[in-house]
Amino acid sequence: MTPYLDLPPLSAAEFAAIEDQVAALLHTTADVIVTQGEALLPLEAAIRGAAHPGSTALNIVTGPYGQTFGNWLRSCGAEVVDLAVPFDSAVTAAQVEAALREHPAIDFVSLVHAEAATGNTNPVAEVAAVVRAHGALLMVDAVASVAAEPLLTDAWGIDLCVIGGQKAMGGPAGVSAVSVSERAWERIAANPAAPRRSYLSLLDWKERWTDAGRTVLPHAPAQLEMLALGACLDRIGADGLPAVIARHRAASAATRAGVRALGTLTPFVPEDAHAAPVATTLRTPAGVDAGALAAELLRLDPALPVQPGGGALATGMLRVNHYGPAADPGTVRGFLTALATATGADAAPALAAADAAWTAAAAG
Ligand SMILES: *Cc1c(COP(=O)(O)O)cnc(C)c1O
Repeated sequence: MTPYLDLPPLSAAEFAAIEDQVAALLHTTADVIVTQGEALLPLEAAIRGAAHPGSTALNIVTGPYGQTFGNWLRSCGAEVVDLAVPFDSAVTAAQVEAALREHPAIDFVSLVHAEAATGNTNPVAEVAAVVRAHGALLMVDAVASVAAEPLLTDAWGIDLCVIGGQKAMGGPAGVSAVSVSERAWERIAANPAAPRRSYLSLLDWKERWTDAGRTVLPHAPAQLEMLALGACLDRIGADGLPAVIARHRAASAATRAGVRALGTLTPFVPEDAHAAPVATTLRTPAGVDAGALAAELLRLDPALPVQPGGGALATGMLRVNHYGPAADPGTVRGFLTALATATGADAAPALAAADAAWTAAAAG
């Protein structure tokens, strides 16, 4: 029997239970809506729900996703203030505070927590504190941080927190979720431009599902993806979220230590504090094409989670996607062994450095 065929429909009770598991994962008591599409769906829904002509948004750009958000915000007719920082660093709360002071009309802030594409992570707790003091709504893209690093939605004051299952959760890419604070619901409900009777409408889900007692699903859910999301939430529960986070932190620390011991490639994000636990990005030296290097690493070990960077970073960046099941010592050691072979170096010192860093980071 093929386990993913002939599935019965997912019940409303099962759907609601998965939403509750996501809420626990996000440390929130706010409404959580599990959306039937990849994470770009709730990200666009959150922006179109909150932004409108006459609103002013601060869009913090620390990687490619921030650029996408700016385009959506502009298409909603919002005034957009872009705060861009180099993609190999992180934004600071002081920079955000200065932008808010300079533009008092800002009523919405979009921020990416961690960027898998560039390998950096931002100090959400500190940024959220200054956004809250200013009174603006805060949307956070936590797709690449959930289950890889601490994410305290309510304690930090995130109004719209968007996640997907396909990174550190080790789950499906076909469904995603957004938590919506009371303040965010009020703002979206008061926005005449917020989508209604639309696949992008959070308000439709609130009306027809959340506020209606979650007993009748408005549409047939994507049951295969929902079952996979439920299964990966169960697995995180069984392993314990702190242990899953520790594995990602250790994978990042070990990869960075091993690469530094080898010496040929260098971390794209130089500061350890700005490095995302979800994935490590590496700069290739002049004359070494990242695409060719990734192909050689995959020839040596087809299971390695490596790929060249995207867009302008395709020739000079190698990505190591040590997330989900790949956040494990065997994957990091396999990557370092292949990299040593491909660059004609001795793997032993790199493996020793990686093992020591893994142990220290996992404990800390
Ligand atoms: C991976 C990721 C997403 C999901 O986008 P994909 O294009 O499906 O990979 C969204 N936001 C961030 C920050 C991500 O890292």
